Amino acid sequence: MAEIKTERLCHVYSVGTPFEKAAIEGIDLTLPQGQLIGVIGHTGSGKSTFIQHLNALLQPTSGAVLCGSEDINKDKFTRKAIRFKVGLVFQYPEYQLFEETVYKDIAFGPRNMGLDEADIDRRVRSAAAFVGLTEAMLDKSPFELSGGQKRRVAIAGVIAMEPRVLVLDEPTAGLDPRGRDDILARIQDYHRAKHASVVLVSHNLCQSLRVAGRVALLAEGRLQQLSAPEALYESGALDRAFGVRVRRVETEGGWQYYCEEPPEGGVHNG
Ligand code: ADP
Repeated sequence: MAEIKTERLCHVYSVGTPFEKAAIEGIDLTLPQGQLIGVIGHTGSGKSTFIQHLNALLQPTSGAVLCGSEDINKDKFTRKAIRFKVGLVFQYPEYQLFEETVYKDIAFGPRNMGLDEADIDRRVRSAAAFVGLTEAMLDKSPFELSGGQKRRVAIAGVIAMEPRVLVLDEPTAGLDPRGRDDILARIQDYHRAKHASVVLVSHNLCQSLRVAGRVALLAEGRLQQLSAPEALYESGALDRAFGVRVRRVETEGGWQYYCEEPPEGGVHNG
């Protein structure tokens, strides 16, 4: 079953001004229930613009975003409802923490949903556990925590809404390799445990290839290819798009991908 579907999705910024910019054009993408999709592409290829349409934060200039068969931009009620179904974690989400305690920050989303205290409490504790925060941290101020822990609090705040679709924009940016692997493993845990769909935007090419069921490659606002990591690897599209040699090694847990050269244009080695 399709969770979210985009049809000929286009977004133009600053229409009718000298700064007019078509950021994404004609994107047709179906996100099936329970799948983890990686979105990759150079800086400026339209990744952030694309994902902000998935929970109606941006509205299409033309085309549509459907949830089931319903246009999510049909009216303001549908647009509001979609925010609880599709949780969006921005880049560097820790800058948006503002409550006095970690607990209150994580509870903010569920409280907005109008849930009762017992349900809010259950969700806060469950989301904190998912991202690896201890109970003792819940009473601290988010500002007492390290950068990596703040990132976890921000992600927990979205997970606590128990979205069917979790969309993350560069969730591991700026973290050290251990923090990166841990956060990624926890996102995968959430995906598996809740059978939630996940859209993971990453500069880190090999990270996406390792964890995604399918990978969407964007270039200049267009969807160039949408395929399983193996097929994308074998097509040679990665070498062409990024000028980076990707090496594949078979391990017990499946294929592992390594980027052989530090590429230019914002794709990280992983
Ligand atoms: P990515 O996430 O892949 O880096 P973006 O979606 O941020 O790509 O940007 C796609 C294009 O749209 C870029 O050319 C960018 O400069 C432009 N763009 C992004 N946000 C805005 C905005 N608010 N106003 C005008 N242009 C924008």
